[in-house]
This record gives sequence, structure tokens and C-alpha cells, in this order.
Amino acid sequence: MKPPHERLLDEQTALFHEITLGRKSGDTEIRFGQPWVAASSIADQYYCEQKVELRRLLGEIETKDKQRGSVAHEELASDALETNQEDLFHIIFSDQLTIAHELLLVSRYKDLILVGQPDAVAFHQGRALFVFEFKFSHSRIPYHSYHVQANVYGKILEGIGFDISTLCYVIALIPSSTKGESTLFTNIVQAVMDNGPQEVTLDIDTSKVYVFPYRSTPAEEDIDWALEYWRSKRDAIPTRNPNKCTRCEYTASCELKPDTYTH
Ligand code: SF4
Repeated sequence: MKPPHERLLDEQTALFHEITLGRKSGDTEIRFGQPWVAASSIADQYYCEQKVELRRLLGEIETKDKQRGSVAHEELASDALETNQEDLFHIIFSDQLTIAHELLLVSRYKDLILVGQPDAVAFHQGRALFVFEFKFSHSRIPYHSYHVQANVYGKILEGIGFDISTLCYVIALIPSSTKGESTLFTNIVQAVMDNGPQEVTLDIDTSKVYVFPYRSTPAEEDIDWALEYWRSKRDAIPTRNPNKCTRCEYTASCELKPDTYTH
């Protein structure tokens, strides 16, 4: 019998293969012919589902905020060592505490496949301890979509077969103007690890860091609502908050934006 890290790695490889085959053949019931749904798309649906649809139809439109986010995320992982997935899975199941950055993960969920790339996950002996999401934002309160994204990552980790019995998710809200992200990242990870697996709010440098226990059932409820759209059980729902539309890069093309503030 294969050791757990080899078995999970084989399953990951098989799912990636399935995604590639499905994409080539278009043999899928999911919208836009893709056999998988990304965690980030599910989270974005909770901001505005219509925006998710326009992005698929019209393509990505670059904004300054997106560019800034990409640069900052690269900086966060700048001190990380590169390794292949085989070695990484081996370390994840060892006695060594491991922080995996931007690890691409897939898992089966009901009749489709979920894909996610969390900013970082802390592992020890095959147990997923913390999943980290770094958000460069002026907000000091995490939006609902941030919770959803972290919960989808939790569901993927659970679906892969990692031990998630003490898993917590971390939402770190970092002011957009922050510099020296790699040091900040280390400080946040250390503070969260020192605090242990419990709900807490931490002030770390200029950042607000929220830690919540992962719960499987609310995560499934969030995912199931979002998947109704991907399974074409309903049309895309636009936000009811016109304030979002004033910042939306698709506003000129959107025919469903609300006229007045109703939510
Ligand atoms: S303009 Fe408003 S309703 Fe339309 S996609 Fe953008 S945020 Fe959504």
C-alpha cells in the first residue's frame, strides 16, 4: 500500500488530467464548457455574480488594484523555496512544519471539480493547520466573499483527504500602501501560529488579521448556492449595491446594474 502522500499526489495528478481532458473535449455540463470551478470565482459571485459572467464573456480587464495585488502577492512569496509537488507532499506529511505558498489544489465536489490556489497553507504531519488569504484592502472588516473563498479552500483541503480537524482560516487585511510584504507575511504567520487554532483578531503591524475555525457545513452551503449558477439552474444575479458598480470595470457593458441603493 502506498504512503498517504503518494496516494494523495496520485489523486491530484488524476484530477488535473481529468480537467485537461474535459477542457479538450468540452464534455461537461458546467457553464462555458469547463469541468471545474475555481474558488476565486465562487468568492467573486458573492460580490457580484453578473461581474463573474461578464469577465467570462468579455475577458479580464486590467485595473490598477489588480496589478497592485499581483505585485504584492509575488512579494509575499519572494522568500519561499521552490520545490516540485512530489517533494512538497512528502514534506507536508513529515514532522516538519511546512508553509506551502500558492499550492494549486483540486478536489472532487459532488458532480464537479473545485480548483483553488490559496496564498499559503500551514501543514504538519499531513494535517492542514491554517489556510491564509492576504487581501490588500482599505477595509478593516473582511467581506463575506473573503470568508467564502477561504471556506472553499477548506473544502478542497478536506476533499483531498488532509486532516482538517483543527483547520482554521486566516484573513489578513493589509493596507494597499504597505511595503515590505515578505517580512509582514512572516510576522503574520508567526503570530497566527503562536496564537494556535482558535478564533481571534490580531493587529500585526498595520494589518488586521482574523482567524476563524473552518466549518464544513457552512462551506458547503456557500458552495452549493454558487454552483446553481455554474450548473445553469439560474441566470447570473447582479449586485443590488450600486456603489460596487461605480468601481466595476465592466460597468459600461453591464445592462443589469441597479439604479438605486436597495441593499
Ligand atoms: S456594473 Fe454592477 S451589476 Fe454590473 S457587473 Fe459591475 S458590479 Fe455587477
